[in-house]
Amino acid sequence: MTRDPRRAIPGVDRLLADAAFAPLLASEARGRVVAALRAVQGEVRAGLAAGREPPEARDAAWYASAVAARLRAAARPSLRPVLNATGVVLHTNLGRAPLAGAAIEALVQVAGGYANLEYELEGGRRGSRYDHCVGLLRELTGAEDALVVNNNAAAVLLALNTVAEGREAVISRGELVEIGDSFRVAEIMAKSGARIVEVGATNRTHLADYAAALSQATGAILKVHRSNFRITGFVAEATLGELAALAAPRGIPVINDLGSGLLLGPPAAELPHEPTAAEALRAGADLVTMSGDKLLGGPQAGIIAGRSRWIAAMRRNPLARALRPDKLTLAALEATLSLHRDPETARREVPVLRMLGAGAEELAARAHAFAGRLRALGHEAEVVDGASAVGGGAYPGAELPAALVALGGARSAAELERRLRHGEPPVVARITEGRVVLDLRTIAPAEDAALLQAVTDALR
Ligand SMILES: *Cc1c(COP(=O)(O)O)cnc(C)c1O
Repeated sequence: MTRDPRRAIPGVDRLLADAAFAPLLASEARGRVVAALRAVQGEVRAGLAAGREPPEARDAAWYASAVAARLRAAARPSLRPVLNATGVVLHTNLGRAPLAGAAIEALVQVAGGYANLEYELEGGRRGSRYDHCVGLLRELTGAEDALVVNNNAAAVLLALNTVAEGREAVISRGELVEIGDSFRVAEIMAKSGARIVEVGATNRTHLADYAAALSQATGAILKVHRSNFRITGFVAEATLGELAALAAPRGIPVINDLGSGLLLGPPAAELPHEPTAAEALRAGADLVTMSGDKLLGGPQAGIIAGRSRWIAAMRRNPLARALRPDKLTLAALEATLSLHRDPETARREVPVLRMLGAGAEELAARAHAFAGRLRALGHEAEVVDGASAVGGGAYPGAELPAALVALGGARSAAELERRLRHGEPPVVARITEGRVVLDLRTIAPAEDAALLQAVTDALR
């Protein structure tokens, strides 16, 4: 009779007594090591029962390294930094805007202790968290007042709920857009309690269409920036100025959802002009809403700027309490806004603006240096022309020239891409024309060494 192969698995006590386990037992609690070892033994047992060959090593050293790998994996946080080699600057899945140094410092300053979040140091009494970024936002947008919430979806929700709950909100059919996989203008409008009144056609909406839709029941006109797509050809839309001229005499507020939150001019010569918050307000919008972590380059936040009477009503809205930002967000946002006071400083210090503004020559030089270092280490790498994207639903269709480092080698592109993702730190890269390519636009120069290490690990 053959021996039950499962009996070949050494027992817990015997393994733990082996010298191979000594370092683990010295650094980890015995209970954790035992639990991990039992789990490893269970996997081996299941493999044997399923008729798979026992692992090549059945000795204590093999178990010790399997247990160590298991404990390492368990200790790894779920949310981890990654290197974004995709060239998509505002990569929503990768956390959108990396913060400026000043924003990180500000955030750290308030993170570890108490802060005057809702406390007026001047008078020694209760203050409001809503006061913190207001001065800067007024200065940078020309708005009478401003309010910061958790993200732009929250900003649109709060604005509409405050001005148009139970009333009608008029919007062009061409602007009932979907942004990302979970923000649909129509759905947010419905949740705000406003009744949607669609006007015009997908490609053309005229001022007369809006005029015909206005009534005693109108609570707002909503104009949404088509952040993530463009329509061209036989198109028409009413300008913000025209809408303001139509709505103002009737006392109807015009809300302009700008999405990307650009406070300065275009961040790169290749990018077309986008309306800034200041321009939208000057053109007649009563309220503008925007994201903090798109082209503004700050933390996830939603910014509402405009008429003080509406902003005051929003502060009093109980919904604001559910959408309010925390002290870390406010600290990072305030520092980011502060950098925007001087456009040159912002373009130099705010990573999103710096990445978008990076010149083709600078990027090509970095790519050639990087490929050269890989080749010096015996790997296949060459520089090819390509394009980076703005991402984050901003500048649809716009492409920035890029110099990509294309990786070669014996492995398939899919396998190499997977190895990069599983590395430490993980590298997220694209596959173009059958090759893994790295776009250094979204890699900070300070990350070059870490990227080189991760790429050589993956190529090994
Ligand atoms: C991105 C975007 C939103 C959603 O903003 P979040 O900050 O992601 O909530 C809403 N409207 C427009 C036009 C956008 O571009």
